[in-house]
Amino acid sequence: MTEHDHDHDHDHGHGIDDPAHPHNAPLSDVQLRVRALESLLTDKGLVDPAALDALIDTYETKVGPRNGALVVARAWTDPAFKQRLLANASEPLAELGFLGRQGEDMVVLENTASLHNLVVCTLCSCYPWPVLGLPPVWYKSAPYRSRAVIDPRGVLRDFGVELPDDVEVRVWDSTAELRYLVLPLRPAGTEGMTEDELIPLVTRDAMIGTALVQPPGAR
Ligand code: FE
Repeated sequence: MTEHDHDHDHDHGHGIDDPAHPHNAPLSDVQLRVRALESLLTDKGLVDPAALDALIDTYETKVGPRNGALVVARAWTDPAFKQRLLANASEPLAELGFLGRQGEDMVVLENTASLHNLVVCTLCSCYPWPVLGLPPVWYKSAPYRSRAVIDPRGVLRDFGVELPDDVEVRVWDSTAELRYLVLPLRPAGTEGMTEDELIPLVTRDAMIGTALVQPPGAR
């Protein structure tokens, strides 16, 4: 996806053929199929294309994983906030406006020097939308969903994460009722950094548990 595809600050009353949204490049097979499906649903009156645009844009660009990164950075810099977050995440998240559809009941899992948390949804693809945005494709894939439980260290290794043997790996299975956000370990070398400086270090995968937060300059 390019920036252009989501630069939706104009009114989308005309659906997919909106002349204000020109497409010069040929469409891929998937794009063609999505368009065909969208136009069929629109013709049948089943979806409002403007609402669809707004929904996708909200979760992909406005919400995205940036909300989660802010939560993590704040927890790293504000001990009182962290304490409240770990005790009952829904309350401080609601105050930030990060509760809502697909994220009503949230639990924050703290990674420590001896514990690493990994989140999966073995049944389908439950994911905390308000803090992480749309789930990545691999999160919804059958191999991740089955292997995360059977062989979490193997999955982590595939993601390039090698944990010492004395670090316990705990796997959490999301459900429609309960969704998890991993509070990653704050990397060494970030001691003097502010919340705003820490936010860009926090990746989506680190908040799912399939990555560690790297110190600045390490990526
Ligand atoms: Fe699910």
